Amino acid sequence: MKHPSNQKRLTTYLLTVLFVFLAAHVAFAAGAQPATGDRDVLSTSRESLTFLVISDWGREGIGDTDKKTPGQLKVAHQLGMTARDVHAAFLVSCGDNFHGKGVPSSTDSLWQANFENVYADNALMIPWYIALGNHDYEGNVDAELAYAKSSNRWIQPARYFSFTKQLTDTSSALFVVLDSSPFVGEYLNDPSDAHHVKGQNTTAQVQWCDSVLRTSHANWKCVFFHHPAYSASTKHGSTPEMQKTFVPMFEKYHVDACFSGHDHDLQHSRPDNATVEYFGTGGGSETRPAGVAGFTKFSKASLGFAVVSITPHMLRVNFVNELGLQLYSSRYHAVTSSGVREHCGSTALTSPGRVAAGMCPTSAMQHYATRTNDPRT
Ligand SMILES: [Zn+2]
Repeated sequence: MKHPSNQKRLTTYLLTVLFVFLAAHVAFAAGAQPATGDRDVLSTSRESLTFLVISDWGREGIGDTDKKTPGQLKVAHQLGMTARDVHAAFLVSCGDNFHGKGVPSSTDSLWQANFENVYADNALMIPWYIALGNHDYEGNVDAELAYAKSSNRWIQPARYFSFTKQLTDTSSALFVVLDSSPFVGEYLNDPSDAHHVKGQNTTAQVQWCDSVLRTSHANWKCVFFHHPAYSASTKHGSTPEMQKTFVPMFEKYHVDACFSGHDHDLQHSRPDNATVEYFGTGGGSETRPAGVAGFTKFSKASLGFAVVSITPHMLRVNFVNELGLQLYSSRYHAVTSSGVREHCGSTALTSPGRVAAGMCPTSAMQHYATRTNDPRT
């Protein structure tokens, strides 16, 4: 006969095993639900700077494919939940904040219908850094700039601007917001000037961008603009004007990632021999066919947005849809002592919602250029 205390210990042990087993099953079952399991993976260290990127959203709560589906509201709901879970510090919009004919004034009711009433979650009461899209240009751009003067969260000091966030005492990230519409030939050559782009000084903007990127010693450089340099969508696709004017500059000054909208999908592109990553974040309210091209790393006609986390050593971009499912994850290490930025891997999820905790490979992928002269080293 066993000693009573041994029996008690055995009983306690068996109960503990049973509890752990049941707890694991409960956790697994919860993980199978899109709204809970995914955010464990999305949750980031409080030491990292995490922000969200969303574009092409202003539709009075709906998506305009059938004028009934509340695409914007669905994404907004998930945007708020995710912002809370990842401790998002700010958002960036890559434009088309007001579809149709933009917004006529800074007091128009569209401010409530497109923005305030839709993104009312407390977790979204954080700075929104705003880029302009072609639809914003069809309205009154100055109305958006004026709204920034009275809003606590609408940050738009000019048509293009930059800001820097410190990651630690000795490391930082640079964020550049460009105004791409005045570069697009289709708008410039429109005799009716429906996009009101005539008169914008594109030379000044190019010189300004060159100066900001050249003089920055930030560990990471991210650039945001509406018209994608690279996109596989058959609706709009790549923007040759952005490729010609800005891509060489991005390469020259070692920009890490660009974010755009315009095409209504989620995409990751990187042409051969390029070192800059291009992310399409146009899933703010409706979807259109996304397409695939030679530079495509990921492409999906999906509602959603990007969750970006930055530490001094790592940049991670995740695409999340309106259900909270992670569709894609791409991770990069900062420039190392060998002068190479390492790509830790990109994962398109066949079973959305589960992302393995990816580890960086020991050797850098060949397509990343050596950056021995990079000031960040
Ligand atoms: Zn657009």
